Amino acid sequence: MNKPYQLVIVGGGTAGWMFATAASHLYSAKQLQIILIESEQIGSVGVGEATLPQLQEFNKFVGIDEQDMMQKTNATVKLGIKFDDWGSIGNSYVHPFGQYGNKAKGNNIYQQWALANQDSAFLSLPQLSYAIQLCLNNKFELPAQDPNQIKSTYSYAYHFDATLYAQYLRSISEQFGVTRIEGMIQTVSNHVQSGDIKSVTLKDGQVISGDFFIDCSGFRSLLLGDNLQTEFEDWSKWLICDRAIAAPTEKLKTIPNYTLSTAKEAGWQWKIPLQHRTGNGYVYCSDMINEQAAMDSLLTNIEGKPLSDPKVLKFKAGRYAKTWNKNCVGIGLASGFLEPLESTSIYLIQTAITSFLRLFPLNNKEVIANEFNRNIDNEYDRIRDFLILHYHQNQRNDSELWRYCQNMSVPDSLKEKMTLFEQRGYIDTYKYGLFNHGSWLSVLHGQGLRPKEIDPFTRGMSALEIQKQLEEFAAEIEESVYKVPRHNIFLQNYCPAKVKE
Ligand SMILES: Cc1cc2nc3c(=O)[nH]c(=O)nc-3n(C[C@H](O)[C@H](O)[C@H](O)COP(=O)(O)OP(=O)(O)OC[C@H]3O[C@@H](n4cnc5c(N)ncnc54)[C@H](O)[C@@H]3O)c2cc1C
Repeated sequence: MNKPYQLVIVGGGTAGWMFATAASHLYSAKQLQIILIESEQIGSVGVGEATLPQLQEFNKFVGIDEQDMMQKTNATVKLGIKFDDWGSIGNSYVHPFGQYGNKAKGNNIYQQWALANQDSAFLSLPQLSYAIQLCLNNKFELPAQDPNQIKSTYSYAYHFDATLYAQYLRSISEQFGVTRIEGMIQTVSNHVQSGDIKSVTLKDGQVISGDFFIDCSGFRSLLLGDNLQTEFEDWSKWLICDRAIAAPTEKLKTIPNYTLSTAKEAGWQWKIPLQHRTGNGYVYCSDMINEQAAMDSLLTNIEGKPLSDPKVLKFKAGRYAKTWNKNCVGIGLASGFLEPLESTSIYLIQTAITSFLRLFPLNNKEVIANEFNRNIDNEYDRIRDFLILHYHQNQRNDSELWRYCQNMSVPDSLKEKMTLFEQRGYIDTYKYGLFNHGSWLSVLHGQGLRPKEIDPFTRGMSALEIQKQLEEFAAEIEESVYKVPRHNIFLQNYCPAKVKE
């Protein structure tokens, strides 16, 4: 009888357990033997609480019941990110998980809004987004399925306890036949001729060999970085923040349905509300502020009592030039890091897992590896540009960080996007990858960039007629949002927390 293919996952954080769950869902233990090694002594990074709506697809694919998962991870709803003091001090905007207008009705609402606003100030753009109005009023109900309904124009993600989510996935994976080995890896051995990874050896002397290795070892990148010495592409000249201090506090009485990101002198501060506690952190550039000053700044700007000592994390923006190298794929922090401004890391984990499993089994390794690397590079590059936009397009003159970011040169791909928007309000769309039209629009507009001209196809329309239509649309949103339950009430009814801190 043929021996089953042996896949070894190194690391049991969000990345390791998401991979284990998805792979064991697709293949029986007879077809694919999956071993996951993790070290309780090392533990996982312990942050990563805000997600994107795409995670719903992953959960559905592996058969997770949403209400059950939300209860057991103390999750809340996330409808977007509110950016305060980004662009300029006193400015505030929301990047929503939703459209402006209603695409099903087929109109280019941004161009129409720009036409209607040409001569005198009219409605604000956020008044035309159902998701933003839900955020600003802290309301939530599950979206409607019928695309014609205004209540179908938004999606949602979760804020959850990442450690509880990993535990949740672990219990599913183990039921599906994944073998977990507790222990700390000390050495890695390679095949002499090919350089492929042969085995890992644990501190207690156990040797675990495999046909293929998934490196989910976090920032250590034990296999892809350390062992295979894969080249790292450093992006820290564009994304200069390299530290974070995380400090959880007590739960909030009124739980917002968005992540709050507040720009500060040397970076930005996050606030992520869960049902049992609140995640807070300061992401900053260590060349612009020292650790003590950053810690003081964070601790004086948090609401409620701290629940544990602040934790400092160090990182560098960038990714490995090949996230698939030899018989190893890096997933999660082991593959690279883009700071958490738009909560994209778990999405990147999900994308790497689906790309890998779509290409498995590995009949023609080189072709498959190239295709995988192209997919992942594309995803990383697009997110990188989107993040840089938040820093670069600013009018703040109050500190070195903002002045540096304003004046830095940015990747050509981003420069082109900004120019297209500035000239005509044009935003190109693509089929795959993050982010969509509404996301780019909310950040380009929210950070203060305005087009010089209106699209020629809209220019000929009647501004008065458009104003009337948009006013009716905004009124419809307002009326509908008014009737939606408050977020706290939704949580109590749908997914009351099961785990106490
Ligand atoms: C400040 C900050 C905020 C973030 N916020 C978000 C967010 O809001 N949303 C988001 O999507 N992402 C966020 N991220 C990223 C997110 O934390 C990660 O994507 C996610 O936690 C996955 O981590 P991981 O599984 O790759 O690594 P880890 O959680 O670090 O897991 C690594 C695993 O490898 C094991 N390991 C390591 N070395 C060894 C060894 N020698 N032997 C055995 N086992 C070993 C560890 O025990 C652990 O199980 C944030 C990251 C940072 C730094």
